[in-house]
Amino acid sequence: MIRSRTSRLAAAALSRRQWTCPACLSKRQYSKQPEKREPPDHRKLGNQQELFMTSVYSPGSPIFLPNGARIFNRLVDFLRKQYVRYGFQEVITPTIYKKSLWAKSGHLENYAEDMYSVTGNKRALDLERTTGCCGTDHAKNEAAVEEDDDYGLKPMNCPGHCLIFASKLHSYRDLPVRYADFSPLHRNEISGALSGLTRVRRFHQDDGHIFCRPSQVEGEIKKTLDFVKTVYSVLRLGVSYRLALSTRPKDHYIGTEEEWARAEDSLKRALDASGMEWTINEGDGAFYGPKIDIVLKDSEGKEHQTATIQLDFQLPKRFELEYQAPAPEYEARGETTDDPELLANYGPVRPVMIHRAVLGSVERLLALLIENYDGKWPFWLNPRQAIILTVNTSDPVVEWADEVRNILLGNKKLQADGLPSLESLSGQTGLAVDMDTTARPLGTKIREAHASGYGLVLVVGEQDAKNQQVSLGKERLSPLETRDRMLRMVDTFE
Ligand SMILES: [Zn+2]
Repeated sequence: MIRSRTSRLAAAALSRRQWTCPACLSKRQYSKQPEKREPPDHRKLGNQQELFMTSVYSPGSPIFLPNGARIFNRLVDFLRKQYVRYGFQEVITPTIYKKSLWAKSGHLENYAEDMYSVTGNKRALDLERTTGCCGTDHAKNEAAVEEDDDYGLKPMNCPGHCLIFASKLHSYRDLPVRYADFSPLHRNEISGALSGLTRVRRFHQDDGHIFCRPSQVEGEIKKTLDFVKTVYSVLRLGVSYRLALSTRPKDHYIGTEEEWARAEDSLKRALDASGMEWTINEGDGAFYGPKIDIVLKDSEGKEHQTATIQLDFQLPKRFELEYQAPAPEYEARGETTDDPELLANYGPVRPVMIHRAVLGSVERLLALLIENYDGKWPFWLNPRQAIILTVNTSDPVVEWADEVRNILLGNKKLQADGLPSLESLSGQTGLAVDMDTTARPLGTKIREAHASGYGLVLVVGEQDAKNQQVSLGKERLSPLETRDRMLRMVDTFE
C-alpha cells in the first residue's frame, strides 16, 4: 500500500506522541494495525527507547542515555570475556598524541584531512626529557618534539599500540602479542554526512592489534575469522556474511609493490583455508596494507561492512619494531630450518602487525542491532530486563516488592548507619530491574510494561508478600528462583 507523504508524516507524529505517553502506546500495541510498517530506523527507535541523543554542541558525537549505555557496556563486557579465550590483553591509551607521532605513523601525510588538530600550551623541553619513555630514541626525536606543540586527536589506536610493543624487548617466544582497546576515536566527517550512529565523528571500536611472527599470520587470521563467527552467531545478526579482500590502491600507498604482494598472498591463503567464499575488491585496500572486510547481509538484503582484518608490514617498519629470533633470515620469510649452526645465530626480526575489529564501530553495530531486533532486545542485552509491579500500594506489598528487587539486583542490607558494609559490596548481579508501585490498575501497568519492552513482568500482591514469592504469568517463584532464571538467560545469551 502506497501512502501519501502527509499520511506518513501524520503516522510518524502519532507514533512519536504515543511513545511519550506509555499508556496510549500500550493501547496501540493491542490494537489492530492494518497499515504496513516502514522498515525500522535506528534513529527513530533510539529516540523512542531513549537510547541516545545528539546535541548541536557536538555534532556527530552520539550521547548515550542510560538505556543505550547499558547495551553499549554489555556488548563491550561480552567482548572482554571473549578476549580471555582469544588471548587479547586490554590496554588503555591516550586520546591525543603529538603530531610528531602522526608524522612517524604516516597519518599526517595520508590522513590529515580526516583528523582533528588540538593545540597545547608551549611546554619546556626539560619536561619532555623527564617524562615517561615510549621505547624509542628520545635523543633523536628531541628536535621534533621541541617544535611540536600541536597534537592530533586519534582516529586510530595503532600507533599507540606500536609504542607499547616497542617499550620492551621481545623474544620470538613472546609472540603473538595481542592488544585490545575500546578508546573513543575521532574522525573529521563533513557535517552533511552525519547521521544517527552510522556516520559519526566520535565512535568506539572493539579495536585490536596482533604483533606476530610471519609464520603465524595465517593462524592468527583463521582465529580472527573464528572470533567473528562466534560473535555474530551470539548476536544473531544478519542472514549471512561474505568475505572480501581489498588489495593495493593504484596510488597513494606506503611501501613497495613486493611487500604488498607478500601481504596479499598471506591473506589469500588464510581466506582459502577458512573454507568460506571470498571475493576481491581490487585496489580498495587502505594506504597501509591489504585487508579483509566482513560484509554482513541483513534480513532485508542490505549489506553492511562491519568487521575488518588488516595486515600491515608498514607500521612495524616505521616504529622500528622487532623481536629476537634464531635464524633471523629464515624467520623473516616465515620459514624454519633444522640447521643447528643457523639456529645458534640470534638476531632482530620485524613482526607483522594485524589490525582487527570484530564489531567494527560499536556505534554502527548498535545501529544495526537496533534495526535488526526492531527494538525488541534479547534478554541479555535488554536495558529493561524486568519490572516488578505491585497490585496495590499497601505497605507489606510495596516493602516486599522492594525486597524482591534488592534480591534480584544482589543488593544486601545496609548497616545501621545507612552505609553498606564491606561484605555487602560484592554479589551484585548486574541485572536491570525496575519497579512500578503507582496506584493504577494492574492491567494498565502490565500492558504498559509489555509495551515498554520489559523482558519479564513480575507481579507482587498481598498473597505473594505473605508467601515470599513473585508471580510471573501463571508461575509462582521465589525471588532466588527468579534471579537464577534471569542470570541463566543472560549466560546463554537469550
Ligand atoms: Zn589499527
